[in-house]
Amino acid sequence: MSGRRLIVAIDGPAGAGKSTVAARLAAKFGLLNLETGAMYRAFALKAIEGGVPFSDPDMLEQLAAVTSIALEPTPSGNRVLLDGKDVTGRIRDAAVTKAASQVSVHPAIRRWMVDLQRTLGEKGGIVMEGRDIGTVVFPHADLKIFLDASPEARGERRYEQSGKAASPEAILRDIRERDERDRTREQSPLKPAPDAVVIDSTNLTLDEVVGRVADLVTARLAQAAD
Ligand code: C5P
Repeated sequence: MSGRRLIVAIDGPAGAGKSTVAARLAAKFGLLNLETGAMYRAFALKAIEGGVPFSDPDMLEQLAAVTSIALEPTPSGNRVLLDGKDVTGRIRDAAVTKAASQVSVHPAIRRWMVDLQRTLGEKGGIVMEGRDIGTVVFPHADLKIFLDASPEARGERRYEQSGKAASPEAILRDIRERDERDRTREQSPLKPAPDAVVIDSTNLTLDEVVGRVADLVTARLAQAAD
């Protein structure tokens, strides 16, 4: 395995620091960073615009059949294209965030996304982040990280990132609600793969987390070179 073919999976709940860690790793090791949450968000945006209820699996499946979603990794994050249009700036709204967590419970939607994600990542040379990358999308990933943190720490980080736009209480409530839905859904619930390295970042700085994960990547690359 060369560095170009490496597959690193980073899973964990909202606000654990996955995106930042994935971006830093990608830059350090020359990997493509693929944010699968952005794909669910783009689809949720389409459902909102089309007035499709998030609880109707049949209508959502029909919508998925006429939807194209692409990720374009750039040094400053993923550009997200929905039916060829750049929606990067629109998918972080609170309404889209909530809808993404609702549309992603449906098995047909997950199957469609997982196929798409496997196609995007199959050549390797990637760090892919989400909720089910190590368990479902790439169960044979070279390295699986499950990045966790207490709900309070995650809420605090999201509050800082939001420019303190919403109240800390509302952000924490939203995080707990999404966690609950992600962890209890029937298909591919959020949980660490049995062979994932679990890192609790509650009391770690970002640099410390990146350092630990980078050491693990370096060790995998050295093993592969033996
Ligand atoms: O990671 P992000 O917060 O952008 O993801 C938005 C939502 O998409 C999550 O709350 C989760 O419900 C869903 N998701 C998922 N599986 C993934 C990535 C995201 O179910 N691999």
